[in-house]
Amino acid sequence: MQKLDAKIPEGPLAEKWSHYKTGLRLVNPANKKKIDIIVVGTGLAGSAAASALGELGYNVKVFCFQDSPRRAHSVAAQGGINAAKNYKNDNDSVYRLFHDMVKGGDYRAREANVYRAAEVSNAVIDHFTGLGVPFARDYGGALDTRSFGGVQVSRTFYAKGQTGQQCLLGTYSSLNRQIAKGTVKMFPRRDMLDVVIVDGKARGIITRHLLTGELERHSAHAVVLATGGYGTVFYLSTLGLGSNASAAWSAYKKGALFANPSFIQIHPTSIPVLNDYQCKLTLMSESLRNDGRVWVPKAKGDKRHPSEIPEEERDYYLERRYPAFGNLVPRDVASRAAKERCDAGYGVGDTGLSVYLDFKDAIEKQGQKAIQDKYGNLFEMYEKITGINPYTQPMRIYPAGHYTMGGLWVDYNLMTTIPGLYAIGESNFSDHGANRLGASSLMQCCGDGYFILPDTMGDYLADDIRTGKIPTDDPAFEEAEKTVADRIRRIMEVGGKETASSFHKRLGKIMWDHCGMRRDAEGLKKGMELLGQLEEEFWKNICIPGNDKDFNQELEKALKVADFFEVGRLMCEDALQREESCGAHFREEHQTETGEAKRDDANFAYVGAWEYQGPKATPKLHKESLQFEYVELKERSYK
Ligand SMILES: Cc1cc2nc3c(=O)[nH]c(=O)nc-3n(C[C@H](O)[C@H](O)[C@H](O)COP(=O)(O)OP(=O)(O)OC[C@H]3O[C@@H](n4cnc5c(N)ncnc54)[C@H](O)[C@@H]3O)c2cc1C
Repeated sequence: MQKLDAKIPEGPLAEKWSHYKTGLRLVNPANKKKIDIIVVGTGLAGSAAASALGELGYNVKVFCFQDSPRRAHSVAAQGGINAAKNYKNDNDSVYRLFHDMVKGGDYRAREANVYRAAEVSNAVIDHFTGLGVPFARDYGGALDTRSFGGVQVSRTFYAKGQTGQQCLLGTYSSLNRQIAKGTVKMFPRRDMLDVVIVDGKARGIITRHLLTGELERHSAHAVVLATGGYGTVFYLSTLGLGSNASAAWSAYKKGALFANPSFIQIHPTSIPVLNDYQCKLTLMSESLRNDGRVWVPKAKGDKRHPSEIPEEERDYYLERRYPAFGNLVPRDVASRAAKERCDAGYGVGDTGLSVYLDFKDAIEKQGQKAIQDKYGNLFEMYEKITGINPYTQPMRIYPAGHYTMGGLWVDYNLMTTIPGLYAIGESNFSDHGANRLGASSLMQCCGDGYFILPDTMGDYLADDIRTGKIPTDDPAFEEAEKTVADRIRRIMEVGGKETASSFHKRLGKIMWDHCGMRRDAEGLKKGMELLGQLEEEFWKNICIPGNDKDFNQELEKALKVADFFEVGRLMCEDALQREESCGAHFREEHQTETGEAKRDDANFAYVGAWEYQGPKATPKLHKESLQFEYVELKERSYK
């Protein structure tokens, strides 16, 4: 049985990391050359980690399923990246960033990790500036900032609406520098399908070469997963189509605990579903709520054109319900408020499933040029997709699946419960509790990769300087490769009639209806039952044309969908056991009189970490109790 030890260092919160770091063991430069590290993922977390570890002198092998590391989903991040620089002199601080995150996450995150993420945030911005990331600057030339939801300061650094792309180009250039120096070897077009455990330690991975179908064994002294989130479980989401749970899931099945799987963020401002043929939703960044005002008509079913609805007949419901934070309430709060208005019959658009995000006042006050400078590419994207010009008409938006706070459980060293297996960035359960605040994911991914992991890994690897190369003919590699090959053969042999995307779409609807924005016990149980039935159908009727010794995207998709059935069930299981509402996890049975999430700190102030028990067995729940020494647990209010 697994035992959870978060390994949180002793001492005052603000000194934990600096004290702990100084006590960590080092690997001397000559010995680093004897050590191999595998990093799976080249998003901001993975490419930051790989380049930092390469620069330190380790032999790094880095993997991604795309043709280029630059195509990792991080490229899509729009709005910005947080840091506690206090450049605006608005009384920001590391403590305030930490406090905002713990409160924003509805008191379900580990204090020590959150404080450290806030602490290293400033180094991330300095590093990116050094790498030449073109962050927006103010008139005097200093880095500019804007605000994001759930905070009352301006701490979000940005590069128009392309912050992820610009930051990824920065990490990509540092990665390439290491590739050129020979410290990092890049393996694109590889799908990681299993992790290999030798004598209880993570020592390698099994990948499928996506162009040739060949199964490959790769060994190392430690393995880092930076494989992103699983929001695509809903099928329609704001994530990249390739985002998936499979790498983390294979680790779960090998003994890594999976924490808070049901904590999944619904973002309030996605372009709504426009037709039945969509396979993806497009985000309109939260940064737009700095200037855009959210409203619906005051009259139910009002079908007038927005320009014909006078000011006094508009309900700016976020400003009305949450005057202290207005349009910049956190995502969980804004999403539920939009759904509440639409369910009550005030929604706009053909389906009534959207609300307006209106820039009229901002354009009148600041001029179109100022708005264009800040959000030009987002406005263009909106117009391309909907055919509507948002400079002259309000955008229409609706909540959509966006980010996973849940993920592989990690301790303070970012190590999973498997020795030598680390998880960073969105793939770990991390620092965001039950709800992530905007712009804090990029901050965490880069902090994990550049400034935390390289130190904590050194301490672990210090024991491996005499180990020598890890052979890939070890029986553990053979067995893992055989398991992968058997699974591929099994799925190829089904020979059914329905495509993986069709199953994924049906699975996503079950998840959205039963384990989405609102959950209740009955619905969650029903969801699990429906998932079980659909999974059975999948294994009888999945159609995969072609063969597995070739480029076969249908096979790739089918393997991911097969995992999503299991992930979906664990999400429902987790949501069912958490008999409280917190952050994005909203149980209908547990709400305040005004419809806000009602926590139960006496019974649920813990991280729920699940241990795999076998294909048919119910997983085992472990609880990491959360201690709050520096933040007072209160009802979260943005009023
Ligand atoms: C539209 C959108 C906008 C966003 N905007 C912001 C923002 O403004 N600010 C902010 O802080 N956050 C934002 N986020 C969230 C943020 O972008 C992500 O949380 C973050 O980029 C995740 O980075 P990552 O490095 O953990 O993973 P990713 O960038 O998702 O990278 C995952 C990597 O893992 C690889 N991989 C995955 N599975 C496998 C496998 N089985 N085998 C091999 N390789 C694999 C992929 O190839 C990829 O390289 C946004 C999210 C979305 C969807």
